[in-house]
Amino acid sequence: MVLIKWRFNCRAILWQIISHCSWKISQASLTARSLTYNRLMNRSYVVDILLEPIFWIVDNFSKYLGKVFVFCVTVLTTAVVCIAYWLGLPYWWERSPYFTVVLVIVGHWLLLNIVFHYYMGVATSPGHPPNGLTVMEAASICKKCIQPKPPRTHHCSVCDRCVLVMDHHCPWLNNCVGYYNARYFYLYMVYMAAGVSFVITGGLDIGYVVWLNDTGGIIPHNDPNLIGHPVKLNQSGFLVPINNIVEYDSDLAPREHDLPIPPVTEAQRIAAHPWKRKAVMFMAVTCVATLFALGTLVIMHGKNISRGETSVEAHINVKMRKMQSEFKNPYDFGRKKNWRLFLGLVKGRSFWRHVLLPSTHKPIGNGLSFHTQFEVEDDWP
Ligand SMILES: [Zn+2]
Ligand SMILES: [Zn+2]
Repeated sequence: MVLIKWRFNCRAILWQIISHCSWKISQASLTARSLTYNRLMNRSYVVDILLEPIFWIVDNFSKYLGKVFVFCVTVLTTAVVCIAYWLGLPYWWERSPYFTVVLVIVGHWLLLNIVFHYYMGVATSPGHPPNGLTVMEAASICKKCIQPKPPRTHHCSVCDRCVLVMDHHCPWLNNCVGYYNARYFYLYMVYMAAGVSFVITGGLDIGYVVWLNDTGGIIPHNDPNLIGHPVKLNQSGFLVPINNIVEYDSDLAPREHDLPIPPVTEAQRIAAHPWKRKAVMFMAVTCVATLFALGTLVIMHGKNISRGETSVEAHINVKMRKMQSEFKNPYDFGRKKNWRLFLGLVKGRSFWRHVLLPSTHKPIGNGLSFHTQFEVEDDWP
């Protein structure tokens, strides 16, 4: 009998499949590359193309997103203020009624400024070039509006309009930050950062007690049944050495010890209350995150204001300084004057009245033409 043995050369077959596939892949990639060949193709071009869908989403949905953001800011701020009343007020009242009055006054001054500057930032138009502007008065032409564009004006792709002294489009305000509302925007951030710092400072001790889970012997309602009796340590959580031993199991011994029991504090009552505990954690996360975010923005924008630049101009001027070493920002009048111009502290306006208290004064000028540091009159502003 003849035995026929089939022997597959597995390795050769596999090799053939692989070489066939790689040939097909290289063919497809060559076809794709020849169809999409662009002499100007480089890495930044590819990044631009890949970012295109993100820009499309931002351009088309930021109007709706802006409304959601404003709603979120309002709800979060309201929640933080309500919790500060609910937990902070009784806590401080127990510690010192006089100091509580001071805190309530400071807190409401901050709250008034936060609400005022936020509302004005949202509701004030940043300013747009007027329709009758002649080409003579303009610095350039906006390619999108097909209209003359004054100096320092830039086109906002979200608002789809030119904005005077444009800084940036702010989704949190659902508005562009520009000539007429930049002061409201900046002071809102400053007061908000001060407000959350105030809440963090005022609640630091409550947060610490909650973190230690020191309920002062109160058993929270939601705790599982403990076996035995609650054991009370002193306030710090440290064990206190006992010098005089009392025999509690002898017949003559007192039924209860007479160690001084410290009174339960409001912070401990908060730590024992399940909802108040959650509220303290919510406050900690919200306020610390806000402080970090706004603190960074306050410093960044503060640097720009000191240099007499908007955020857009800061970008442009960095490039200009690289290209020409002797470049000077024409709108930089020195730190002190830049700040006075930004805050509108001219014509006898005072820091006390026009920065520390809500004020609706407008910036000087019309946002269309500007003095520069090269041609400024002595008596200006
Ligand atoms: Zn435009
Ligand atoms: Zn805008």
